Amino acid sequence: MSAAPLSVHVYVAPMRPFVGASGEAGDQPIWSPMSSTLIAGERDAILVDTLVAHEQVDRLADWVRRFDKRVVAVYVTHGHSDHWIGLAQLQKHFPGVKGIATPDVVARATFEATDHGLSNYWQASFPGEIPTEPVLPEAMTGDTFELEGHVLRAVSVGQGDTEHSTVLHVPSADLVEGGDVVYNGVHMMTGEVVYNGVHMMTGETDAASRQAWIESLDRVAALNPKIVVAGHKSVGAPDLPESIVASRQYLRDFSRIVNDGGGVEDVVAEMLKLHGDRDNPRTLWYSARLAVSKRD
Ligand SMILES: [Zn+2]
Repeated sequence: MSAAPLSVHVYVAPMRPFVGASGEAGDQPIWSPMSSTLIAGERDAILVDTLVAHEQVDRLADWVRRFDKRVVAVYVTHGHSDHWIGLAQLQKHFPGVKGIATPDVVARATFEATDHGLSNYWQASFPGEIPTEPVLPEAMTGDTFELEGHVLRAVSVGQGDTEHSTVLHVPSADLVEGGDVVYNGVHMMTGEVVYNGVHMMTGETDAASRQAWIESLDRVAALNPKIVVAGHKSVGAPDLPESIVASRQYLRDFSRIVNDGGGVEDVVAEMLKLHGDRDNPRTLWYSARLAVSKRD
């Protein structure tokens, strides 16, 4: 007997403020909209990524309950804390539910939780809104797991907005959960966090890593999905493969415009001419500032 089809439901937490630097142009501290996806069988379901602040996770849990499924695991696409730090709060709603991720993603999440400067960055950005004792995802032993007979596969594509990024491929649903490899209607984060003037993260994005990111998007496209859910997507944006094409174009445009040699404001202005309908230009200002400073 073949398995009943899976259903795919996408929740999007809208943009919201966080506590961050402001003062320079474009610095209004707004966190980009984020998605969490419920992939559901007849009885069981898995969630993909957790959102960040308690209030976001609580709303997500309320939404999940409506589907009346048993959440058996939370797949974490990459190590940036905004995609897994909600695990502790999710466990309050769904006791015992575990996060799972590739070993590289777990290593990165562990670094984010234990590096003093970086964990301080997250605590300072969302004071009182994220756990002080995070629950980390656990490492998968292989790259696949099952949901009611369907195979779900972690595909390590490498560079996204951070190194060691994965997407989750569900062939029977023609689905790719794109994590932060694919963006949809949101400015793409091409400069990893700088804390106290120090690059706290590995895999900081430059022209070479933007090219690697484009190649990651090629790998996602080669999976031939019909449904593509971006980790950061604007509310109501359709979950279509066009977001892969648009993400590649955004990165190409960004590299070309940075390479043209203008200052930060020029880069932002040129990008906004082409991609002005995307959410959260703060990310563009941030990325442009870093890219221009590295070029000079
Ligand atoms: Zn993210």
